[in-house]
Amino acid sequence: MDNAYDVVVVGGGAAGLNGALMLARSRRSVLVVDAGQPRNAPAEGVHGMLGHDGVPPAELLARGRDEVRRYGAEIVDATVETVTGKEGSFAVTLDDGRTVEARRVLVTTGLVDELPDIEGMRARWGRDVVHCPYCHGWEVRDQPIGVVATGSMAVHQALLFRQLSDDVVLFLNDQPDLPDDDAEQLAARGITVVTGAVAGLQIEDDQITAVRLADGTAVARSVVAVGARTAARVPFLEHLGLSPVEHASGMGAHVAADEVGRTEVPGVWVAGNATDLSAQVGAAAAAGAMAGGQINADLVAEEARAAVEARPLRMGA
Ligand SMILES: Cc1cc2nc3c(=O)[nH]c(=O)nc-3n(C[C@H](O)[C@H](O)[C@H](O)COP(=O)(O)OP(=O)(O)OC[C@H]3O[C@@H](n4cnc5c(N)ncnc54)[C@H](O)[C@@H]3O)c2cc1C
Repeated sequence: MDNAYDVVVVGGGAAGLNGALMLARSRRSVLVVDAGQPRNAPAEGVHGMLGHDGVPPAELLARGRDEVRRYGAEIVDATVETVTGKEGSFAVTLDDGRTVEARRVLVTTGLVDELPDIEGMRARWGRDVVHCPYCHGWEVRDQPIGVVATGSMAVHQALLFRQLSDDVVLFLNDQPDLPDDDAEQLAARGITVVTGAVAGLQIEDDQITAVRLADGTAVARSVVAVGARTAARVPFLEHLGLSPVEHASGMGAHVAADEVGRTEVPGVWVAGNATDLSAQVGAAAAAGAMAGGQINADLVAEEARAAVEARPLRMGA
């Protein structure tokens, strides 16, 4: 590992690796620092991504790492603890004690899914506790699905899963009563609504068999869908004064940025789930590629300005 890079990419998921690919192909010196915990790690395959449908998440990223290294970028397995400094001279400190310098920083550390505190939920996450009809809806089609409400998106989620199975139950889980319009839509689509707090998931032979309510009732289900609150994983940006803010969608907290990934701190860019909470793998990769290209253009402009300033004065100038 060198000590100074044009760009340090923090996070080596789809967004980070695609950003690094664009930068390395532009002959930029790039270091990717990756803690190795992509959000979809518990899933068996990446779905809905053209040309890669069903590929295991780890395999996709291993291929991406090979591609990035082919152009000379370095990838290190570590966690970034702090980023300090300013545009042109950031200091990025890793958990192994090393500190490297970077002219620009691309943040692609994804997000944390904050699951409701319901027994069994975390252990089954990404297997038979799911959140996204496009990621794993096809895989759970025609099964008895229980949607556990955690907020205002529950009715929408129940209607989306109803597209995949005609046996959907919405557990209100002590959320407020439904507006009449919502209740009518659910009834018209044959979705049963169950009131009362959800206490846990009943697991037998390593699969969900029922959703247990606080009053002891067990409602037979083999799949649970839940809308987790999401939060960008960026504690290391604190020293730069860059904190996540609530996203207008109500989905959670993200790092605000413009459409190409530029944040309010000059020289710090962001792509993927850390800023776009609803991005799937393809969208995260595309955003990483966009940010990588834009960072290169930003450096090109800086270098052109510096070259003009460094030119010897010409006759008559
Ligand atoms: C269960 C589940 C299944 C999913 N299935 C699909 C699917 O089928 N199809 C699909 O398109 N999408 C799917 N998704 C969504 C998908 O996971 C995201 O779209 C994608 O992971 C976003 O990519 P990213 O690069 O932004 O973040 P991530 O893939 O989460 O990558 C971020 C990387 O940054 C690293 N990191 C975090 N903090 C630090 C730090 N401080 N220092 C260094 N590294 C750090 C992490 O360890 C991780 O490796 C699924 C999500 C979940 C939860």
